[in-house]
Amino acid sequence: MDFTTSLSFTVTDRFLRYVKIDTQSDPASPTIPSTQKQKDLGRVLVSELLEIGIADAHLDEYGYVYATIPANSDRKDVPVICFCSHMDTAPDCSGKDVKPLVHKNYTGADIVLPDDNTQVIRMQDHPDLKNQIGNDIVTASGNTLLGADNKAGVAEIMDACYQLMNHPEIKHGTIKILFTPDEEIGRGVDKADIAKIGAFACYTMDGESAGNMENETFSADGAKLTIHGVSAHPGFAKGKMESAIKIAGQIIAALPDNLSPEHTSDMQGFIHPVDIGGHVETATIDFIIRDFEDDKLAGHAGVIRKVADGVLKQYPNSTYTLETHEQYRNMKHVLAQHPQIVDYGMEAMRRAGLEAKLCSIRGGTDGSRLSFMGLPTPNIFAGEHAFHSKQEWVSVQDMQKAVETILYLCMVWEEKI
Ligand SMILES: [Zn+2]
Repeated sequence: MDFTTSLSFTVTDRFLRYVKIDTQSDPASPTIPSTQKQKDLGRVLVSELLEIGIADAHLDEYGYVYATIPANSDRKDVPVICFCSHMDTAPDCSGKDVKPLVHKNYTGADIVLPDDNTQVIRMQDHPDLKNQIGNDIVTASGNTLLGADNKAGVAEIMDACYQLMNHPEIKHGTIKILFTPDEEIGRGVDKADIAKIGAFACYTMDGESAGNMENETFSADGAKLTIHGVSAHPGFAKGKMESAIKIAGQIIAALPDNLSPEHTSDMQGFIHPVDIGGHVETATIDFIIRDFEDDKLAGHAGVIRKVADGVLKQYPNSTYTLETHEQYRNMKHVLAQHPQIVDYGMEAMRRAGLEAKLCSIRGGTDGSRLSFMGLPTPNIFAGEHAFHSKQEWVSVQDMQKAVETILYLCMVWEEKI
């Protein structure tokens, strides 16, 4: 059944409204959510969900929106699935007074943003624009980010809810909706109530190009290297002082280039010093360590040790300790136990007429943590591009394809039982 010809999409109208609501999160804030203004969007979403007829939609004290679309299928035991997007925008770029602009029928010409003429969206800098000729491109006006990351996903899920409630011919099991705050500051699932969601699988709608699905993220560790040098009065230090500051500097200089973020790509991991501090007596270096394979993470920590051992040969009275701690793990290992979750996502994208492609992310998602909290969660495209920047863009047509993908995904889960 091709129901998509009868759909009248609401995704663009919704998107243009949601991006005007400032929902920037703040890493320096200890509160949950980190900024109260994120609840402004949460309240709008809840009232729209109630209007659509989704009776249990609500915003909780932490700024999470939950809702349930009851099953309309006669089939029993259709697994419950959830769709998730984040409501906040990145602290890197202003999200206040966003003025979204729709550039109809894109020809490939430069898009000059009117409020700042130096902001020009060129195809050469944004190669995915090659696939958008004839489409309608939404951008901000030059002073702010757009917020397609992740309000494109929010609007797509909201439109899918609207379509599901208005098209009873689309058969589905119970569908759960989750909108989270604070994803951009790494706290997106801290207060997510997995038991309340009660789903077998979840999909974040927060990826880039149409047709892409991500089933793999980095595995991530943090590491702290503490160097204990020998201090002495600088006037009388000859032959005694072993400066922890200088040892730290030499260790950083001796890290292998081929394991640094600026020299790696695709499936390669890296060791990355992110903070350094200290005095003559002690110094610390904080690292982040990344790889797609968990055992390689341990190897990267071993490289830091080897480098430190080498440098300390010149400092016989100095020592060091290295502590590592887990940050998140590659969700591939969880998703591999339930291959249908990714398979059905790929099938839904193909039914929407897209070339489905499986990708990996050199980073983490809400899904990488949700997966290890017991809710396997790959990431599907939302169409957002150049996120966290003033040149962020999304196309109307890609957002509509994402809505179709969600609807087909609901149908696939119902059919396959
Ligand atoms: Zn995002």
